Amino acid sequence: MSNLNLAQRLARPELLDLEPYQSARRIGGRGDIWINANESPFNRTELARLNRYPECQPPELIAAYSKYSNVPAANIVCGRGADEAIELLIRAFCIPGRDSIAIFGPTYGMYSISAKTFNVGVNALNLSEDYQLPSDISGVKGCKLVFICNPNNPTGTVLSVERIEQVLQQLPDQLVVVDEAYIEFCPENSVAKLLESYPNLVILRTLSKAFALAGARCGFLMASTDIIDIIMLVIAPYPVPLPVSTLAVQALSDDGITNMLADVALLKAQGQRLAATLTDLGAKVVPSGANFLLVYFDDIAKISNGLKDAGIVARAYRDPRLVDAIRFSFTNERETDQIITVLQQLLA
Ligand code: PMP
Repeated sequence: MSNLNLAQRLARPELLDLEPYQSARRIGGRGDIWINANESPFNRTELARLNRYPECQPPELIAAYSKYSNVPAANIVCGRGADEAIELLIRAFCIPGRDSIAIFGPTYGMYSISAKTFNVGVNALNLSEDYQLPSDISGVKGCKLVFICNPNNPTGTVLSVERIEQVLQQLPDQLVVVDEAYIEFCPENSVAKLLESYPNLVILRTLSKAFALAGARCGFLMASTDIIDIIMLVIAPYPVPLPVSTLAVQALSDDGITNMLADVALLKAQGQRLAATLTDLGAKVVPSGANFLLVYFDDIAKISNGLKDAGIVARAYRDPRLVDAIRFSFTNERETDQIITVLQQLLA
């Protein structure tokens, strides 16, 4: 047992003997006549090679994300959104009916839903009043995976790199999963630079938010190669469709990144305008590092109904910590003007 690495010690033990599915693409080969994968020889589309299965981990996509994130390609896995990465972690590391994950709420709902669909326990801990990690995190004891969402959805609040590093130091025998789905809106808070120092760190990323590709379904998991090796045992044979990796590589090109940065700046400016208006109108706006604002209102029913009547679809919650709040995603200038006008009428 003693020469197992951290990822192997934490993995579901039966996986260590599992031979992963050997897809035709993984086995590969040399030659001109490819009849090893029951594919059609006819490409009926304008996309090259769409009749063929894609690579499990398209090398151009991994290289593009590596260049963008400054994380070595060997430490990156891509899949169908950050949601798939959450599921892969739970499937790879948590024994159903026995293991648990820890979360700090209110937070993104899929950690607990994914765990529950695999009969994995959820240790639901609370963030502090101001949505920071509690000073005492001993409640996560025994949990294989500790999820930390930064910036946090739905509060938008941000944890410092120093605080996350303390957690990594305190929990050397658990995996600390930092969900950076919204990190492009506050890149200085990324813990990507800690990956080489902490074998217990996992980072989740996505192209669904700042990169404006939610419909493409493309996300990334970044971690030590030991953790990546375990994830590769449970990943689907072809998780990323070819048209998706083509679009994703474009989004991660120099031009794509320039566009993304311009969008982020524009959205943040609109968000600041919305926050300033709501604060002036007396609502309680939670400071946000993401592309949305959580706002508490005295008369939540009036605001919800008023937004609905105006055709504005914002997000309300049943969680008792959030029943008086609405989450507003940032949008373009024209729609922000409309939202501000409606809120000014409702809060006048
Ligand atoms: N993490 C967080 C915090 C999110 O808010 C979301 C999307 N709502 C996801 C992960 C999932 O992102 P993806 O679209 O990449 O599956």
